[in-house]
Amino acid sequence: MSEEKFDAIVVGGGLAGSAAAYTLARAGLETAVVERGTACGAKNVTGGRLYAHSLSRLIPDFAESAPLERRIVKERILLMTESGATTVEYGDEKLKASAGASYSVLRAKLDPWLAERAEEAGAMYVTGIRVDKLLQRKGRVCGVIAGEDVLCADVVLLADGVHSLLAQRLGMKKALAPQQVAVGVKEVIGLDEKTVSERFGVAPGEGVACLAAGYPTGGAVGGGFLYTNRAGVSLGTVVTLHHIDEAEVKVPDMIERFKAHPAIAPLIAGGELLEYAAHLVPEGGYAMMPELFWNGVLVAGDAAGFVINMGYSFRGMDFAIESGRLAAETVIRAKRQNDFSAAGLSVYRRLLEHSFVMRDLRHYQNMPALMNTRQIYNELPAAAAEILGGLFRVDGSEPKKASKLALSALRSVGPAELAKLGMKAWGTL
Ligand SMILES: Cc1cc2nc3c(=O)[nH]c(=O)nc-3n(C[C@H](O)[C@H](O)[C@H](O)COP(=O)(O)OP(=O)(O)OC[C@H]3O[C@@H](n4cnc5c(N)ncnc54)[C@H](O)[C@@H]3O)c2cc1C
Repeated sequence: MSEEKFDAIVVGGGLAGSAAAYTLARAGLETAVVERGTACGAKNVTGGRLYAHSLSRLIPDFAESAPLERRIVKERILLMTESGATTVEYGDEKLKASAGASYSVLRAKLDPWLAERAEEAGAMYVTGIRVDKLLQRKGRVCGVIAGEDVLCADVVLLADGVHSLLAQRLGMKKALAPQQVAVGVKEVIGLDEKTVSERFGVAPGEGVACLAAGYPTGGAVGGGFLYTNRAGVSLGTVVTLHHIDEAEVKVPDMIERFKAHPAIAPLIAGGELLEYAAHLVPEGGYAMMPELFWNGVLVAGDAAGFVINMGYSFRGMDFAIESGRLAAETVIRAKRQNDFSAAGLSVYRRLLEHSFVMRDLRHYQNMPALMNTRQIYNELPAAAAEILGGLFRVDGSEPKKASKLALSALRSVGPAELAKLGMKAWGTL
């Protein structure tokens, strides 16, 4: 059994882990990253659109070398019934302004790129090895045990994703509750680059983000997503674990429904399946946050539950990068003070409080309750189809008044339920 000593050990070579490792190594700290996948990016799944603000804070010139697929310039929301969809599309030249830029990304390319930046800065990566246990001595974490190896460090940073069994074993994090976590199934489909631009009506290098609710999940709380890549699309479905039992569709069939839907099928026709993945997503938001620091240990990214599902957009990667960076800044300060106790590491909470991480998690803390409203996935898509179908259908029969169509649709949702939903949405957004 060998025993090595580092300033910091990062468990997990995802975006949170590599953002931390990059920051630590640049500050001259001896840093080791232990990743259980055979390579960084091998185990990581995203939809995926990256809001680039936190990456640009970490690596200001990231756009020159990062493997970005397309810059998102159009947003589409679809309320799907079995045979159709009510689609809202938003596009604006302002979306192209760098301050709010977002990009479609593939983790199999993005994670190795960020890990390489961290390695260039001096971090050491050990891949293909799982950390089984945390080493504890005198009431503090002081290293990791991975197979035969014991690696010691002043601080261990847990960036080990949604489950974070290591944080659970330390008692910092509760076991995941079914209503706080969703299961995502994703495919990457290859298409010719020109075909993608033509089908989605965008210029080369530009792309579209689509989120859908309704038919794909059989009305269960969840939805579909589609992001244009440079040469193809990433698409899939997400459904809350809590609702899997009562859903009329099985989880693997949800993505099939989504792909076969008339609003999606023509967009991916002739495409080649390149990748299939499934992964859990923490969706409990602010309420599911674990303890973020203890003696000799910090928690960042999905391990800390830093994800927001707003229905019309989804964010986790920007939180992962920022929390990884701030955890590293905490370690750098702790090293200067030579204080790795919980009190010394509590700076992490302060840094998060002064960042967008806590601000946005708090701002959207009622979002999980709003997203948990069944009417969004059942009655609303049907009501929208009823109103618009009535307005646009011309078949020689007597035209229906818009107010009558709206009233009839409203009755099917239930006026009281609709009022409740409206109040909830007003309060949340
Ligand atoms: C279907 C789906 C769609 C999503 N869509 C979006 C989106 O469009 N935009 C967005 O911003 N976010 C999205 N997210 C969320 C986003 O992917 C996550 O928030 C992000 O991946 C978190 O990064 P992380 O580094 O914290 O965790 P991860 O990427 O999960 O990395 C954790 C790493 O730790 C490693 N690990 C775990 N345990 C151990 C161990 N014991 N020893 C060693 N290594 C270990 C894992 O192998 C993994 O590499 C989506 C997620 C899913 C599942």
